[in-house]
Amino acid sequence: MKSEHLILVVLTVLTCRVAQPGPATAAEPGRKPNILLIVADDLGYGDLGVQGCTDVPTPNIDSLAKNGIRFTSGYVSCPVCSPTRAGLMTGRYQQRFGHEFNPGPPRAASTDFGLSLQETPLPARLKSLGYATGMFGKWHLGYKPEFHPLKRGFDEYIGFLGGAHSYLDNREGANSILRGNDPIEQVTYTTDMFGEGAAAFIEKNKDKPFFVYLPFNAVHMPLQATDKYLQRFRGVIKDQKRRTYAAMLSALDDNVGRVLAKLREHGLEENTLIFFLSDNGGPTAATTSRNDPLRGYKGQVLEGGIRIPYIIQWKGHLPAGKVCDQPVISLDIHPTALAAAGGTISPDWKLDGVNLLPFLRGDKTARPHETLFWRYGPQHAARKGDWKLLVQARQAAPQLYNLARDIGEAHDLAAEEPAKLKELQASYDQWNAQLISPKWRNGGGKGKKAGKADKSGKAVVE
Ligand code: CA
Repeated sequence: MKSEHLILVVLTVLTCRVAQPGPATAAEPGRKPNILLIVADDLGYGDLGVQGCTDVPTPNIDSLAKNGIRFTSGYVSCPVCSPTRAGLMTGRYQQRFGHEFNPGPPRAASTDFGLSLQETPLPARLKSLGYATGMFGKWHLGYKPEFHPLKRGFDEYIGFLGGAHSYLDNREGANSILRGNDPIEQVTYTTDMFGEGAAAFIEKNKDKPFFVYLPFNAVHMPLQATDKYLQRFRGVIKDQKRRTYAAMLSALDDNVGRVLAKLREHGLEENTLIFFLSDNGGPTAATTSRNDPLRGYKGQVLEGGIRIPYIIQWKGHLPAGKVCDQPVISLDIHPTALAAAGGTISPDWKLDGVNLLPFLRGDKTARPHETLFWRYGPQHAARKGDWKLLVQARQAAPQLYNLARDIGEAHDLAAEEPAKLKELQASYDQWNAQLISPKWRNGGGKGKKAGKADKSGKAVVE
């Protein structure tokens, strides 16, 4: 009796506790669900109301958690922008195809830079399943024509190809905001423009299955906001930098709300699978973005660089208002979206991400991932269960943390738990042996130090 009780307790702890019966098919028989993938840029773990932020209201993004599943151990596959996006689009660890670093701006980027043409991105796979595909925002996966979003599976595109852009104007040459292939003459505040573009695409495609990829440049540098958003925090937040950041975050939240309202207007919310995540942790010194209670920043494989807000909503199909503690990663979105769309995932694709739907419906109770890995230049990490191996620099001593007891990575247990350390190192070595050398370095230049951890989060704002 006692052992049965123990087994029950263990099962309850190990699973997401989200098991809840729900229909396995779409709301409208025969109609494939729409997919909405919202990505925030440089949004830290503690930057949303639902994640503990107290001075900037984010009711619309928080509503996704209220109506869906919030992952407290949601990760991205890199602590900076472009590599994470390569993993997100392909469902594969991006180091498998050499996409380990950011490229730098167009003039500095390596001529090799771009999402490998050997890889098939998510929009291309959804397009082949009959989806209308639209992208609105930051691409950061290639400047050359063959890497353009319209060549990688998107039917429509409004956005810029680089890693950062002014929010207020469009005078950036090769990094200009384009509609399709043409620079846009008159731009509005980019956060509004991308939200509006996504809403218009939904309006146009409301009668067929669609995939909307909405990678806002908010809340990445530069710190720029319009009066409409700034006035909300005048006299409320004294620090000017924080006030501007709050306005940018508020604009992001408004525009998530705008897109959700458009779905609701056409009764599409129950037939739309929605993902929300950030592409890396916050660069606190640069923007005031917060990663509490995590240690570290954008650019580091400490939790603060790689653990991010991660929410999935699919009303009527997945549980609402649930919190999942099991580790998931951005790589899971590709197979999860394809599975929802009725696609078959071929083992030949060698995806690293897994379809999360059976876990979220309660059909599977094991963890989606036994182990997750990170490599970013001289830094690397592995998470196995609650244990994390961390190496912060070349020839640095490996550290070991128990994240269940020590989410802030404050107590290095490497000396106390040598067997566990060895086990994680062996797992990492096995994974690392499957990767190839990076095809380019940060900033594109040869011989530059790449992936260097920055203690303040200041130098890694690209
Ligand atoms: Ca980013």
